[in-house]
Amino acid sequence: MKRVYFLLAVAAFGMNAFGQKTAEQKVSELLSKMTLEEKIGQLVQYSGFEYATGPQNTNSATVLEEIKKGKVGSMLNVAGSEETRNFQKLALQSRLKIPLLFGQDVIHGYRTTFPVNIGQAASWDLALIEKSERIAATEASAYGIHWTFAPMVDIARDPRWGRVMEGSGEDTYLGTQIGLARIRGFQGKGLGNLDAIMACAKHFAAYGAGVGGRDYNSVDMSLRQLNETYLPPFKAAAEAGVATFMNSFNDINGIPATANRYILRDLLKGQWNFKGFVVSDWGSIGEMVAHGYAKDNKEAAEKAIIAGSDMDMESRAYMAELPKLVQEGKVDPKLIDDAARRILIKKFEMGLFDDPYRFSNEKRQQQQTNNKENRKFGREFGSKSIVLLKNQGNILPLSKSVKTVALIGPFGKETTANHGFWSVAFKDDNQRIISQFDGIRNQLDKNSTLLYAKGANVDDQDRSMFAEAVETAKKADVVIMTLGEGHAMSGEAKSRSNLHFSGVQEDLLKEVAKTGKPIVLMINAGRPLVFDWAADHIPAIMYTWWLGTEAGNSIADVLFGSVNPGGKLPMTFPRTEGQIPVYYNHYNTGRPAKNNTDRNYVSAYIDLDNDPKFPFGYGLSYTSFKYSDMNLSSSNLKGNQTLDISVTVSNTGKYDGEEVVQLYIRDLVGKVVRPVKELKGFQKVFIRKGEQKTVHFKLSTQDLRFYDDALNYDWEPGEFDIMLGTDSQQVQTKRITWLK
Ligand code: BGC
Repeated sequence: MKRVYFLLAVAAFGMNAFGQKTAEQKVSELLSKMTLEEKIGQLVQYSGFEYATGPQNTNSATVLEEIKKGKVGSMLNVAGSEETRNFQKLALQSRLKIPLLFGQDVIHGYRTTFPVNIGQAASWDLALIEKSERIAATEASAYGIHWTFAPMVDIARDPRWGRVMEGSGEDTYLGTQIGLARIRGFQGKGLGNLDAIMACAKHFAAYGAGVGGRDYNSVDMSLRQLNETYLPPFKAAAEAGVATFMNSFNDINGIPATANRYILRDLLKGQWNFKGFVVSDWGSIGEMVAHGYAKDNKEAAEKAIIAGSDMDMESRAYMAELPKLVQEGKVDPKLIDDAARRILIKKFEMGLFDDPYRFSNEKRQQQQTNNKENRKFGREFGSKSIVLLKNQGNILPLSKSVKTVALIGPFGKETTANHGFWSVAFKDDNQRIISQFDGIRNQLDKNSTLLYAKGANVDDQDRSMFAEAVETAKKADVVIMTLGEGHAMSGEAKSRSNLHFSGVQEDLLKEVAKTGKPIVLMINAGRPLVFDWAADHIPAIMYTWWLGTEAGNSIADVLFGSVNPGGKLPMTFPRTEGQIPVYYNHYNTGRPAKNNTDRNYVSAYIDLDNDPKFPFGYGLSYTSFKYSDMNLSSSNLKGNQTLDISVTVSNTGKYDGEEVVQLYIRDLVGKVVRPVKELKGFQKVFIRKGEQKTVHFKLSTQDLRFYDDALNYDWEPGEFDIMLGTDSQQVQTKRITWLK
């Protein structure tokens, strides 16, 4: 009885079960003391970059003053215990001493960098991905960072878009699982722990669907498609308790995402009941003027706050315009309260009101970052992200005692590039990045020779180094060519219309191939490239993306076989740019091609095979796997029964190895057209040579749901194909009927 009274009292006074005030309660109290300007201040985020340019930057003095006056709630691009502490000191001079939040793009690692995200996705290894974000969060928090602008959960079907580098590829299911793993990794045991940083689901929404793969470009698509393909990773992130969301730059059906009430108010803050806050993308509020959606910053601020964007990253529109908009009655002050409340709750949850400096800790910064353990993990993760595309005649793995190996290509001795696109430069890090040359040299026998020739620059027309490269190749028993695109050629604002190796690298490859030497090609890239000639003529190809700090070691581990590659492509690889967009889960037309070369009044190109170069889910191993005994618990199901699916996978080759077993379904007839395949599950299993494992999956009608043209989300009774296999093309199929 007493307990009941106590709980009632708790409910009435907004305290938790220990009699302490909840974050909500504390924020209400704080808000009641705040002026309108102070509340708006919480909605403002500035970048610290300008401080890098020194005090001559006239703006910086103003910004420092604004922080002292409580007019800034958050900073990005300020990192380091000392630096964050110095900024925090300024904020604590403000009237109400509200601490700043420090945000940063911690995208593929922090001081220890990991493979670029698309490479990580190629591992299909959720445990590794989660652990990498745990490490990234530990390192970043040690530098005073509270919040990362990750994960990017944008589904992308167009490799011309440079930011496919930062995502998990083309598939909604895989992308959702990976996004959730990242959020678990960043947020750890929960906000408030010293190694947990706030995650941010970005870019909301459909940023990956810009017309023609051009960054920032418009998106015009049905709400059905939006909900079915692009929004599920966001919805799942909201449900999983991600702390924040970020707007995308694009418009969706004519309304910029930053002011899009449908996605922000109706879905995110309405149906999905999201309690965190939404930050704009860099300048995306002000950019609505260029969009032609607001006549000036003032109107842009009005539209953004009404739609539900809580924090203004660097548009400087909220601070300048919201006070006037409230005074003029155009913006309800309750909207400002709501946005400030959401942001302040996070500051309480992060423990910043208890100790605003708790993340700024030099000792942790020293001990917990770029240490041996983190690098060891980075090395493993790098090797698990590599995808083996071709291994004709089992050239790979190489023997460590090959007498002479030639490494040729512009990436051989590169260090910085291995970091990939998003990395914060630390003074001493470049020396600590393992180049491919060093990684290979470390593992080759002492008596073997490793030669090197650059052969070409990453991106120009200079052929003067070809001759030396050819001569070097002639001296070798095996040639390893390391080609691709520059690490800064994929990433934000890095859309490409030509996806071949940049510069004259393909010509270099052709010249070296004329020597007749066996060639292993390593492709360095942040996206699927087009390399039809190489794929047809070079016997061994591995896709190495950008692997991070330990790149050279990870690569050598796979080249020499201490790691058996098990990565699988998270995106379809096109034959040529003209085939884009090409993705595995397309719809059939009324005239689908019957085979790869069918051009008889079917939906195909007259000058191209219908298949992509490499399908989604594809990747080889040094060993071989055989699938047998695919078994379904029933072929006639009803209502809420569960379908048990199993298959036996045998390792029939000479190496222990990992295989990603993939489950796809097809709903044969629907109220709306259904994809020819949809990934519904996968499992990564380790199988010793000569052994086998039975892999089990379960499906329920939940997995059969889809959005119809009225946006109802449900399943329909009928026939379904259940497919299991090693990639999205090579599958075994069984048909079932599932009735209501
Ligand atoms: C990017 C975001 C990023 C932000 C802050 C923007 O240009 O689109 O993904 O988080 O900058 O650096």
